[in-house]
Amino acid sequence: MKINHLGIATKSIEEALKFWEDSLGLENVHTEVVEEQKVRVAMLPIGETRIELLEPTAEDSPISKFLEKRGGGIHHIAIEVENIYDALEKLKSSGARLIDEVPRIGAENCLIAFVHPSSTNGVLLELVQKTE
Ligand code: ZN
Repeated sequence: MKINHLGIATKSIEEALKFWEDSLGLENVHTEVVEEQKVRVAMLPIGETRIELLEPTAEDSPISKFLEKRGGGIHHIAIEVENIYDALEKLKSSGARLIDEVPRIGAENCLIAFVHPSSTNGVLLELVQKTE
């Protein structure tokens, strides 16, 4: 397993890039709207992992709710697994609270599933399996 990316919620990707690209020197290599999750994402590689900037595309986006409550910041950590179905099965049988019992399609057509913060010491956890 490895950290696939760290998700950071922001009101505006364009605003956020002033820091992450212009000041810090990372490069935004991929921007995409994930309709199902009502977010726009920007991916900035850093070492073996990436920063994922998340901007809401609708009032009822999960990111809008997070921004209202917390005003931005680290939204989730994404761990890359070989087989997301096995990982979910193992978590479920150990009593972890899953937000997604069945994987869905995330950015870059990966399979993703979220694990509830109540099972992870307060961190929203995303599992990611690459599809190619
Ligand atoms: Zn993510």
